[in-house]
Amino acid sequence: MTTIGHWINGTGTPAGSTRTAPVFDPATGKRQASVLLAEASDVDTAVAAASKAFESWSTSSLSQRTKVMFAFRELLVKHEDELARLISSEHGKVVEDARGEIVRGREVVEYACGIADALKGSFSDQVSRDVDVHDFRQPLGVVAGITPFNFPIMVPLWMHPVAIATGNTFVLKPSERDPSASNFVARLYADAGLPDGVFNVVHGDKTAVDAILDHPDIAAVSFVGSTPIAKYVHERGTAAGKRVQALGGAKNHAVVLPDADLEHAANHLTAAAFGSAGQRCMAVSVGVAVGEAGDELVAILARKAREVRVGPGSDPASDMGPVVTEAARERVVSSVARGAEQGASVVVDGRGLTVEGNEEGFFVGPSLLDHVTTEMDAYREEIFGPVLAVVRAETVDEAIALINANPYGNGTAIFTGSGAAARKFQREVKVGMIGVNVPVPVPMSYYSFGGWKDSLIGDSPIHGPEGVRFYTRAKVVTTRWPDDASTSAAAFTFPTSH
Ligand code: NAD
Repeated sequence: MTTIGHWINGTGTPAGSTRTAPVFDPATGKRQASVLLAEASDVDTAVAAASKAFESWSTSSLSQRTKVMFAFRELLVKHEDELARLISSEHGKVVEDARGEIVRGREVVEYACGIADALKGSFSDQVSRDVDVHDFRQPLGVVAGITPFNFPIMVPLWMHPVAIATGNTFVLKPSERDPSASNFVARLYADAGLPDGVFNVVHGDKTAVDAILDHPDIAAVSFVGSTPIAKYVHERGTAAGKRVQALGGAKNHAVVLPDADLEHAANHLTAAAFGSAGQRCMAVSVGVAVGEAGDELVAILARKAREVRVGPGSDPASDMGPVVTEAARERVVSSVARGAEQGASVVVDGRGLTVEGNEEGFFVGPSLLDHVTTEMDAYREEIFGPVLAVVRAETVDEAIALINANPYGNGTAIFTGSGAAARKFQREVKVGMIGVNVPVPVPMSYYSFGGWKDSLIGDSPIHGPEGVRFYTRAKVVTTRWPDDASTSAAAFTFPTSH
């Protein structure tokens, strides 16, 4: 059985690790590899390599950095198929969906290819007599990323291209459930000409995370994962004096007004709820059916949920693969059971599904719950599986109030034919990313990604302009070149312009 090791200073290595965790093939339910779990000393080794590499990488020219990014981008294109299959084999999602996350992650590399533009400073001429002011930004040093299982390549790509292109060096601690994509990426960076030590991967669990959070030579930490861990990472990382951006969980609502094209809305809700088996931070997990839209919408959703083809991610006929672990499958099953106990009507029940030939796989079918209320667990908890809960509301105001009372605020969408309703919705809703007739409004790489409330701890969204700001700090320089005529005596009052 393969043992997946770390990538430190340009080479694969076990470092000093001996503990391991299993890596499953979720479609078969079988353990296919082990991944090494780093000790604090292994994190030290990676940080030492990254610190050394920072000395030269931080002084490399913008052209050298963008050259590497362009080459890296080409390699991501060239190896897309191989990478998509690798992701699918450890995560379970269908290969086409894995391809989608590669493409969306690659867009951040494309943004990083243009980092020279994003790093341009400003200049003010003659702010005072013979005095000019300019600013510029410099990298922080060694920065780290801690990432979740659900997008094993895209979420790390939200971080490291921007960090590296702005002159930092990087230590990635990916999810231990699907670790291989990160090592693959490390090899692509090396082939693209990235110097050793600029990008490092340490696999691990809480031990590695804590070592990162406490490490005196790590300047900043980017985290994406569940809200309790995001809060923990933010608290411990900032207490250690680091910059921390921490993106958390979600409960995304899609509001459907009676004037929407219900067939269109239901198509998109189905894909957004059950795509990747609901394991997306931007998945729609709550449908808010407004007024008379309710019964017809639920009827169409039920038909479409039953049509979802569930099977191995490697089968091109599958729309949806398994969930990531047996524990995740059990969590979904028990959420649907509690929904029924607490009074929701289970319109479509995915609990009993088995996939022929893959009976041991972590499969669970799409479930549709109707008449869910805000007190039920199925509404309050992030299930992170293929469960769509439908809540009924009388008006768009009621729908907005419902969303605003929810502790999460990652993404939301409205389906309507009314510009006025859409405008009201986007102005009043307390959510970071909003779709109008678009169910999964993931911003393009030249915007920044981030929710509100418990979906983002701290104040820094990820990638795009906010990413550049996060991974750099500014200097403001005030300059005078005195000549004989302008030389004056020292003034002891506070300087003001004249
Ligand atoms: P998770 O929080 O369990 O794990 C995320 C990372 O934290 C992993 O690298 C893991 O090894 C580490 N970790 C786990 N437990 C830890 C602990 N006790 N102490 C220290 N580190 C720990 O999340 P997950 O299950 O891998 O991913 C799913 C979650 O991520 C969902 O809540 C989803 O909404 C969220 N997510 C959010 C976004 C976003 O952009 N807001 C994007 C993707 C996923």
